[in-house]
Amino acid sequence: MQEPAVAEVRTTCPYCGVGCGVLARVTPDGSVSVRGDPEHPANFGKLCSKGMALGETTGLEGRVLAPEIGGREASWDDALDLVARRFTDTVGRYGPDSVAFYVSGQLLTEDYYVANKLMKGFIGSANIDTNSRLCMASSVAGHRRAFGEDIVPGIYEDFEQADLVVLAGSNTAWCHPIIYQRLLAARRKRGTKIVVVDPRRTATAEEGDLHLAIDPGTDVLLFNGLLAHLARSNVIDESFVAGRTSGLAIALDAAAADAPSIESVAEGCGLNSGDVRLFYELFAATERSITVYSQGVNQSVHGTDKVNAIINCHLATGRIGRPGMGAFSVTGQPNAMGGREVGGLANQLAAHMSFESTQDIETVSRFWNAPNIARKAGLKAVDLFRAAGDGRVKALWIMGTNPAVSMPDAGRVRAALKACDFVVVSDIIRTDTTRFADVLLPAAGWGEKSGTVTNSERRISRQRPFLPLPGAARPDWKIVCDVARRMGYGHAFSFDGPAAIFREHAALSTYENAGERLFDIGAFAGVTEAEYDGFTPVCWPVSRDGASADRLFGDGCFPTADGRAFFVAVRQQSVAQAVDATRPISLNTGRLRDQWHTMTRTGRVPRLMSNAPEPLLEIAAEDAIRYELADGDLASVSSPYGLARAKVKVSSSQKPSSAFLPMHWSGQFAANAGAGPLATPLADAVSGQPELKHVPV
Ligand code: SF4
Repeated sequence: MQEPAVAEVRTTCPYCGVGCGVLARVTPDGSVSVRGDPEHPANFGKLCSKGMALGETTGLEGRVLAPEIGGREASWDDALDLVARRFTDTVGRYGPDSVAFYVSGQLLTEDYYVANKLMKGFIGSANIDTNSRLCMASSVAGHRRAFGEDIVPGIYEDFEQADLVVLAGSNTAWCHPIIYQRLLAARRKRGTKIVVVDPRRTATAEEGDLHLAIDPGTDVLLFNGLLAHLARSNVIDESFVAGRTSGLAIALDAAAADAPSIESVAEGCGLNSGDVRLFYELFAATERSITVYSQGVNQSVHGTDKVNAIINCHLATGRIGRPGMGAFSVTGQPNAMGGREVGGLANQLAAHMSFESTQDIETVSRFWNAPNIARKAGLKAVDLFRAAGDGRVKALWIMGTNPAVSMPDAGRVRAALKACDFVVVSDIIRTDTTRFADVLLPAAGWGEKSGTVTNSERRISRQRPFLPLPGAARPDWKIVCDVARRMGYGHAFSFDGPAAIFREHAALSTYENAGERLFDIGAFAGVTEAEYDGFTPVCWPVSRDGASADRLFGDGCFPTADGRAFFVAVRQQSVAQAVDATRPISLNTGRLRDQWHTMTRTGRVPRLMSNAPEPLLEIAAEDAIRYELADGDLASVSSPYGLARAKVKVSSSQKPSSAFLPMHWSGQFAANAGAGPLATPLADAVSGQPELKHVPV
């Protein structure tokens, strides 16, 4: 007899910030089949190689299936009691700032919300930071400086409606494949010009009409030069600038001082002046222009300035918030944006409120009925692990992330985890980080958990379960609430499911918000369970009558005190650590097309591994000759922080005196072959985002 067909469940891909819709089902033979959701507005049925392989990542090999204390299986009650007791005791003896959470863009918004509420609202410390710090913190800070709030103004349709797309520090073809495919499809119809700004000749650069292989860390100079050129070319939108912005004159002075001529920009950026001129003239002549930026811009000691240098050019031309126009930050993780909405970063409060405003602190305190709320920003990721290493943080809870591999100066992070008095890790899979756990908690994975995520265009979508929870695994939101109850905060954490958390999150977004904050999803404060189950993807803000905004700022109104956007005067500055005779090569790191983060899931799929089965150190032919290296030779690479060994690939993608090592590999997959131990922990003073795109080796 034929097995009955199992219904497909509508969910969302858990990898990159494109946030593609997925239809998933368990087939009669027990395997998981996936296909793109044709009705999801991010991907209209398409999936990339990683998304297509999702069904092969749901097996139980390597899963954490029961709580463990000191490496031995324990009951949930014993594990949760211990976590609550140790956090309570530590706070009692040493104060709230002696504990910390390090969470993840892999968490669903509801998980993120309760973790943030517990730490900031009830423990009374803002020591909760997220691995999104490594991904988008500079964009968040740049948006706040320019717009008054962390807003991505555009939507994915802008990729299709632009005549010029500038991809700055973004290997979109590999890291955000579906929006890249949408861009290429539009280009075939309208002839969109693509300019790629990237030190490497990536797959994206190969397809571009123009590749500007700038020297590392020179983005501010390039975009300051563009701003100065726009002024010289009389393409400033005087009416928009006068009516809707502040600060152009000072920003222009800074730009002109940095970039007196195209030739000086070319020299400073390591480019050909003809290419720089071509880019500037193309941008000046093309009204429908978007500039898309990602980790290549953000992961820098001057990442925030780079973001503002880009936004300045769009404000100067009034090219923002209209079809095919704008500065567009694309997030690396599926829920980097959702984390930002609930205050997942140590310097944020929930619902886009800020520690810089006493009124905001009081608003959240009143809403949560949390008089003990944190009143100052907490430790950002790099500092948080430093504090764990030197004894200031004595109890640390890591949720859904693998900092022993992914953090810069990863060797020091491992030492910090070893030194910290009490480390709790909630995760689905055993990783290099779970080895340091005093208490290990089995979390629910993709396909098992339920909640919402927000993608790079502010679109909230549902992740829905279609698999049973394996072993004793529990959703992150429930684990956090169970600990909160044991710490004496049960009254504030009595949620019976993710829908209840989402309702509270939505209600907070609209609480005492008469339009000052654009992040407003108050329309969902009363969603029923059935409405939450049937939730269809929507871009925020959502008005009280349920209407969704798509592009923002098209009306020239910004969420600042006077409604104007700000130009930020920025100056070109050097990288944190320049190359020298001892370490003459600039090492860059980033993603491969078929892998995700530290490969704990994608590394288990043979067809994803087959394209790049081992980490390769890409170097230029000139450097291969200089160091007497050939394809396949084993190279030792040392930075001021650590040592790695990897096979060499001589590549035309690299400029001389530069190298690239993928971010993904860890001790679990190849000893001493990851970029984490080499990368610098030096970070942007404004955003706290480390300079992962350059370290001298
Ligand atoms: Fe998943 Fe991103 Fe690929 Fe879409 S583009 S399927 S969200 S990894």
